[in-house]
Amino acid sequence: MFYLSTRNNEISKTPSEAVLEGIAKDGGLYMPKTFEGAAFPMERLTKMSNKEISAEVISLLFAGDKMIANEKGEFAGAYELVSKAYDGKFDNEDFAPLEKVADAYVMELYHGPTCAFKDVALQLLPQLISSAKKATEMKDEIVILTATSGDTGSAALSGFSDVEGVKIIVFYPRKGISAVQERQMVSVDGKNTCVCSVGGNFDDAQSGVKNIFANLKLPEGVKLSSANSINIGRLAPQVAYYFKAYRDLLLNGEIKMGDKVNFVVPTGNFGDILAGYFAKKMGLSVGKLVCASNENKVLTDFFENGVYNKNRSFYVTNSPSMDILISSNLERLLYLTCGAKRCADYMEQLKRNGEYKITEEELAKINSEFDAGFTNGDETIKTIKDVYEKHGYLMDTHTAVAWSVYEKWLAKTGNKDKTVVLSTASPYKFSNSVMNALGQGYDGEFDALSKLNAYTGAKIPGSLVDIEKKPVFHSVTVEKDEMMDFVDKMVNTKTWHK
Ligand SMILES: *Cc1c(COP(=O)(O)O)cnc(C)c1O
Repeated sequence: MFYLSTRNNEISKTPSEAVLEGIAKDGGLYMPKTFEGAAFPMERLTKMSNKEISAEVISLLFAGDKMIANEKGEFAGAYELVSKAYDGKFDNEDFAPLEKVADAYVMELYHGPTCAFKDVALQLLPQLISSAKKATEMKDEIVILTATSGDTGSAALSGFSDVEGVKIIVFYPRKGISAVQERQMVSVDGKNTCVCSVGGNFDDAQSGVKNIFANLKLPEGVKLSSANSINIGRLAPQVAYYFKAYRDLLLNGEIKMGDKVNFVVPTGNFGDILAGYFAKKMGLSVGKLVCASNENKVLTDFFENGVYNKNRSFYVTNSPSMDILISSNLERLLYLTCGAKRCADYMEQLKRNGEYKITEEELAKINSEFDAGFTNGDETIKTIKDVYEKHGYLMDTHTAVAWSVYEKWLAKTGNKDKTVVLSTASPYKFSNSVMNALGQGYDGEFDALSKLNAYTGAKIPGSLVDIEKKPVFHSVTVEKDEMMDFVDKMVNTKTWHK
């Protein structure tokens, strides 16, 4: 398999190179040259375990690369990498269990170490990077540099902690991240981890990181990379759970092989839902992929009228991990729809004017595979309460956005196929909002966690039990104009101590 830039088909890389680079030189994202030859062996699906499905997906998407080849035991095989990533890390043996709620299924993707779906990808990405380094005989040390508004930072730290040949620096805004999210990050004790708060908001931290990528002079033997979902090594692991959901529906007798299944996905950067489209390209019988947004509904508008316009108000919502105006991975869907040249054009327009409009033909093509909808904060809160009272099922705000969009979509389309709603975070990760939804009082975030448990009896995920008592290993803080100097100092320090 080869990977091409979404903006220029002449840029072609091996899977290892694409994983190590993250983003192409021309600013494009890496895409498989073709999905031909990457057809999933559906006839074996019902006999496969979760790890076997993950290993199969990785093997197909990264076919022929040493990164996943078990040559003379020199390189780890796909199954070995998957085992290293997932064994003992998830609090449910089945890392993506399906729960029947009303007539739909909720796929719980939050049973990993940081209680959000990003763990599925970010436990495997470090293994892929580490193996890709060996495969390409890269001697450089890779430093992962990430700005986070919460979920990405903790999941990345958990995944990269103590992985060989890689270090990680995470910046988070001093204000505007929850106490639980902060403690999840500063309590990571890996020798190769560094966590630092920044005076300012998320955009300040993000701009600082972009500036460092563009302008920091690195010492010999050090390379910077990113853990964001633009990396194909982060996208690929997510494809597996779409097959896994289909397998479970087959085993439950809910569907027959070949029946279509819809997926409703709470969306921010368009990574998770795009992984579902990859699954479809690899032969999964997917009906509609329904893109669910909160008030930041730039994607809903795009699917409706073909105009992507980021020049609009930004809302801070109760589903913060979806508060995004530039959904980077949409570029990959554009590329599949209209090719590299037009894709590069649209991205240039987005950069210059903050806006682009695709043709009616292109929009029709996209609408034959995707639907979209949005919901506001009040509806999100009401959904949590209603689903809990009617069906006894407790969900977080991001999942509730998806559920609310699912209900509206079902009422509008009357679709008869089975539908899976993706649940991306534990209700305990956003206890405040969930307690508000249930009309219950609490005193601060940590108290909300235990009161939510007392009120609902739902089990607190292991990693969040007594989270407020976890020791703090990182207490560095810098101002936004000091970020560059800080990273410069860190990349020139061989051993990081705390
Ligand atoms: C990151 C995140 C999302 C959005 O996923 P994308 O792949 O960016 O579309 C949704 N829900 C939660 C809880 C998240 O952390």
